[in-house]
Order: sequence, then C-alpha cells, then structure tokens
Amino acid sequence: MTHTTTLLIIGAGPGGYIAAIRAAQLGIETTVIESAELGGTCLNIGCIPSKALIHAADEFAHARDYAGESPLGIQVQVPRIEIGRTVRWKNGIVTRLTGGVGALLKKHKVTVIKGSAKIIDGKTVEVTQPDAGTVHVTCRHLLLATGSVPVELPFMPFGKRVISSTEALSPAAVPTRLVVVGAGYIGLELGTAYRKLGADVSVVESMERILPAYDAELTRPVAASLKRLGVNLHLGCTVLGLNAAGDAVRIRSSAGQESELAADQVLVAVGRKPNVDGWGLEGLMLDRVGRFIKIDDQCRTSMRDVWAIGDITGEPMLAHRAMAQGEMVAEIIAGRKRHFEPLAMPAVCFTDPEVVVVGRTPDEAQSAGIDCVSATFPFAANGRAMTIESTDGFVRVVARRDNHLILGWQAVGRGVSELSTAFSQSMELGAVLEDVAGTIHAHPTLGEAVQEAALRALGHALHI
Ligand code: FAD
Ligand code: NAD
Repeated sequence: MTHTTTLLIIGAGPGGYIAAIRAAQLGIETTVIESAELGGTCLNIGCIPSKALIHAADEFAHARDYAGESPLGIQVQVPRIEIGRTVRWKNGIVTRLTGGVGALLKKHKVTVIKGSAKIIDGKTVEVTQPDAGTVHVTCRHLLLATGSVPVELPFMPFGKRVISSTEALSPAAVPTRLVVVGAGYIGLELGTAYRKLGADVSVVESMERILPAYDAELTRPVAASLKRLGVNLHLGCTVLGLNAAGDAVRIRSSAGQESELAADQVLVAVGRKPNVDGWGLEGLMLDRVGRFIKIDDQCRTSMRDVWAIGDITGEPMLAHRAMAQGEMVAEIIAGRKRHFEPLAMPAVCFTDPEVVVVGRTPDEAQSAGIDCVSATFPFAANGRAMTIESTDGFVRVVARRDNHLILGWQAVGRGVSELSTAFSQSMELGAVLEDVAGTIHAHPTLGEAVQEAALRALGHALHI
C-alpha cells in the first residue's frame, strides 16, 4: 500500500503532534506515524504521569504529617495508600490526554498511521503496522520527531530490579528500599515522590552536589528539604554495579571508600539520549552534534526538506521546546518567516520545593561579559508563603546595570512553577526592572515576591 502526503512526521510526541496540528491549520496535508501511544514520552511516560505521581505522593505525605502533630489542628487516623489505585488514577489522566491528542488530530484531518517508521530515503518512509502490513509513505517534507530514550549504565542494564523512569511511573508496589542513580531532574522528582510514598530512598550522584545543572544557591533549599524528608544523599560517588547477589548497589566515594546500598529497586536516571537508532536514520547521513541531529535556527537538518525537532535535536530536552519548534516548522513550511530564537526558555524542576530558571543567572551574565545587577527576595518575607507553610526559597532577578533590561529569573519555593509564566513573559516582552516593580501584583500571592525582587534590584524593596 502507498500513501502520499505533503508533510510526514515521524513521532507524535509534543513536538510531532503540535507540528501536525499547526500544519493542518495552515492547510498542509499532514500525516503522522507513531509506533506507540499518541502524546509521546511527555504524555505517556514523562511530564504528565510524573507530575501526577508527585501530586499523589505530596497528598499522602500531608496526610501522614497530619497523623502526627499538625500545627493547623488537623487530626487524621494513620493514612494508607493503595498504590494500584494511584497508578490507575494516573493512567486515567494519561488516557484522557492522549485521547485528546487523537481527537485534535482527527478534528484537523491529520492522517495518523500507527506503526514503526523506517526511513527509505529523504522522501520515502516504510511503516510496519502491527496488524495491517506495510505502508510506503512518500512526502514533500519529512519531519523527524522521534524523541529520546533513557541512558542505560552498561554495567547495570535495565531489567529486573534495575528500572528506568518508565517503570518507576507505574509501580506495582512501593519498594522498601529504592536506590536512585543520578540527582538530576528525574532522580530528584521521582526519588522525592517515592520517599513520600514511604520508600527508604538513597540517591547516588557522581557530582559533588544535587541538580548540578542549577546554581548552588538555588538548590540549597531542595537539599535541605531532602534532608528533612530523610533521603540519603551520596554525592561525588561512582556507581560500580550491583553486588553478586544482585540486591545492593556498590558505590565508591570520592575518597575511594567502597560500600553497598541495599536495594529492592534501582532507578537509573543518568540522562536521556536521542532516539536515532534502528529506524534507518543513518542512511540519510545527516550532520550530527554528538549523537543529536544537527539543526539550524529553523530546525532544518543538513538535507533539504528534512526537518528535526524536540529531544532528537539536543538540549534542553523539554516538552515546551519541542512544541515551540514543531509549531515553528509548520509555519515555515506554510511559507511564513520564522526563526527559533526564544529569549526565554523556562525550565522547571518539580522537586519539593520547586525550582525555576529562565534566562541568565548572575554568574552566566557575568561570564558573558554583561555588567548586571541582581537581587533576591525571600519567601520568608512573603505573607502568602507563610499562610501555605512554605517560607523556604526566594525569587531572584538578573538585569543589565545600564538600562535595567531583565536578563533572567530564578526561583525556588513551593508552587514557583506557576511563576515561570510571568518570568518568561517579562523577558519576551523586553521588560525592564521598573516595568515589573511598577506592576500591581495581587495580595496576598507568591507573585508579590517577583515584584519585590525587581524593587530590591532597584534599591527600594518595601518588605525587607
Ligand atoms: P517524545 O515525546 O519522546 O516523542 C517521540 C515519539 O516518537 C514517541 O511517541 C515514540 O514512540 C515515537 N517514535 C520514535 N521512533 C519512532 C519510529 N521509528 N516510528 C514511529 N514512531 C516513533 N519535559 C518538560 O518540559 N517538563 C517536564 O515536567 C518533564 N518531565 C519529564 C519526566 C520524565 C520522567 C521524562 C522521561 C521526561 C520528562 N520531560 C519533561 C521531557 C519531555 O518528556 C520531552 O522533552 C518531550 O517528550 C520531548 O518531545 P519529543 O516530541 O521530542 O519526543
Ligand atoms: P539529568 O541530566 O537531569 O540528570 C542526570 C544526573 O545523573 C546528573 O546530575 C548527572 O551528574 C548524574 N549522573 C550521570 N551519570 C552518573 C553516574 N554514572 N552515576 C551517578 N550519577 C550520574 O537527567 P535525567 O534526570 O535522567 O532526565 C533526563 C532529561 O529529561 C532531563 O535532562 C530533562 O531534559 C528531561 N526531564 C525534564 C523534567 C522537567 O522539566 N521537570 C523532568 C524530568 C526529565
């Protein structure tokens, strides 16, 4: 069977499905090939299920706290969690969202072919469908959006006790002892959730601190919270593998001391790599950056009319980047003039407390030779933070010294993920400190700390 289309997209993750919807809106005949469920990593085994599990773990932890001494006067009996039901609830959210993607693609008359794509050449793809044989699809434009997969440790491959985030998001039971390898996004988001669900959690990180991609001041409240929760951190440690019995992880500290961490499960979260193997991509001989596909600022690869977006194109491997790239590629194919040059690319780590970064930190601005001012405003001085029992953390702003143009925002604290909207908008709109300082922020909200940080950078904060 053969099928001809104008735009052929391989992968219906956030990059691919957004590109398809936008292309169809612009009148481009579009086909998407997806070997798994619509929605990709993000909706099925990434952003959404992880945030659902984190929320359930938070609620359970609150209930357990109330079963002790609650200063709020709330009393509950000792709570229990039925993890199977939690997973079913999480799966329900996933199904609703992936079903929604299917409905949106149908509404926009995008052809969806379920099956594994194999590239024949830059204009032809062969799809092996699970029950319906092979289809050859020819196209004018080919968009590669096959995402990423977890990195495996060669000496401790996935299987049995050793799991990736995918298995960790659908636990059959909460393990008594969980060892997490990697104190990055996944290790800390899921490690914290498992601790709150009742597991004894140890985190092993090769660098000397948690979340090494973020600046140390920003991660301090997260480290303090992990300590309070009773998560055991083994920083600056090398993982050597499982012991002979396979029930403990052998590690070596930076001082050369070897020890074993007993483990019912081991979550390996040491990064993700582009999904570039096993589907004929190498035949196109596209330029690469390491293993990632090299793209320009329009997401064009080194082959004409072959485009690439999302995790397959490199860092930051974030869903909103993939979506923004997908939307842009559709518009370029439709003839619009677009370039991928965001001023703000927010990143949020959904730890407890949450961390947000947008734009430059003070150190990054200085390294770039920019004379900048920066100021922080602590949540300890914010009324709303007190009423939600979350006074750890702060908001920090970075701006040029000469004209006060805002270059970056960072925040750590409960619920600060929602401040990322204000941060990104201020930067994309070219706001200066005076714009934010002069905006009336609703009281009492955490957002007042954003205004106060800007005021403080101008030298006249009101509540500190
Ligand atoms: P993907 O979402 O990976 O989609 C690629 C799709 O291509 C998949 O559906 C795959 O089945 C399909 N595919 C691959 N090869 C073929 C083939 N040969 N034929 C047919 N189909 C194929 N990002 C955030 O921004 N915020 C978060 O909170 C967040 N949390 C995360 C939590 C976890 C546990 C993980 C693992 C990731 C998280 N991410 C988060 C990252 C986010 O999921 C990815 O950045 C995003 O999904 C990338 O989108 P994509 O479209 O590039 O690829
Ligand atoms: P990561 O890059 O965030 O963290 C990996 C951590 O593992 C790093 O701290 C690294 O130093 C450490 N590490 C590497 N090798 C090690 C080893 N052998 N022993 C011990 N530690 C080791 O990667 P991740 O947590 O696997 O997440 C993958 C990607 O998924 C992220 O980079 C991000 O793009 C995406 N993600 C995003 C979110 C979010 O936006 N909230 C959440 C989860 C995942």
